[in-house]
Amino acid sequence: MFSMTAILIKHPKGDLLIDAGFGRDIAQHLATLPLPFQLLTRYTLNKTAREQLQSSGYDLTRLRAIILTHSHWDHISGAADFPEVPVWIPPAERSFVQGEDFTTAPARSIKSLHLEEYRFDARPYLGFAESHDVYGDGAVVIVPAPGHTPGSVIVFVTLPDHKRYAFIGDLAWQLEGVTEQEERPLTQRIADFEPRLVREHLARMAAISARYPEMTLVVAHDPRSFAAIPKWP
Ligand SMILES: [Zn+2]
Repeated sequence: MFSMTAILIKHPKGDLLIDAGFGRDIAQHLATLPLPFQLLTRYTLNKTAREQLQSSGYDLTRLRAIILTHSHWDHISGAADFPEVPVWIPPAERSFVQGEDFTTAPARSIKSLHLEEYRFDARPYLGFAESHDVYGDGAVVIVPAPGHTPGSVIVFVTLPDHKRYAFIGDLAWQLEGVTEQEERPLTQRIADFEPRLVREHLARMAAISARYPEMTLVVAHDPRSFAAIPKWP
């Protein structure tokens, strides 16, 4: 079983979603992908991120942006339900979305998508050469990790109690992909834009994970990743 989720990060300067999971229009988004892919895909739509936030009385004006680990359908679909919230994306991923790659057809089909670019500074972070510190306080730091898509990123989150999380998106398919460096399944490797870079980032994340035991690695589609994250509401 794979999970498709959105993560809410609360911050005094505005809350963030990391990825958006499946949205209300998921069937339409899936329909923009090639037929063989559609036929191989089975899913159940639970409550969308927007429904979950709204039904618990969350003040949606607190949402500052949606940060995508990458722009594939299963990560961006839910962003269509938040037309008022900008989607932050680095230049490389924006070009990818606006190009002709078939994997970003769902993203292109979302007309309400309001993409806003952010850039990386030449400030190293945990061995990554560049980084973007969203609020300047180290709470949310994004690093480029191209490979799965040209503008894939890893989002590092540090909580006030010093708990740390690394949202690695689809860099690995399951946790063992990082901890044991297990080979990715064929379907995933086909989806990779540049497999060599994926392996490089995986090796770095394995080293980081060994060095910082307080850091939880969150693999987007491995439900076990979410055991250490409080459930909303
Ligand atoms: Zn994915």
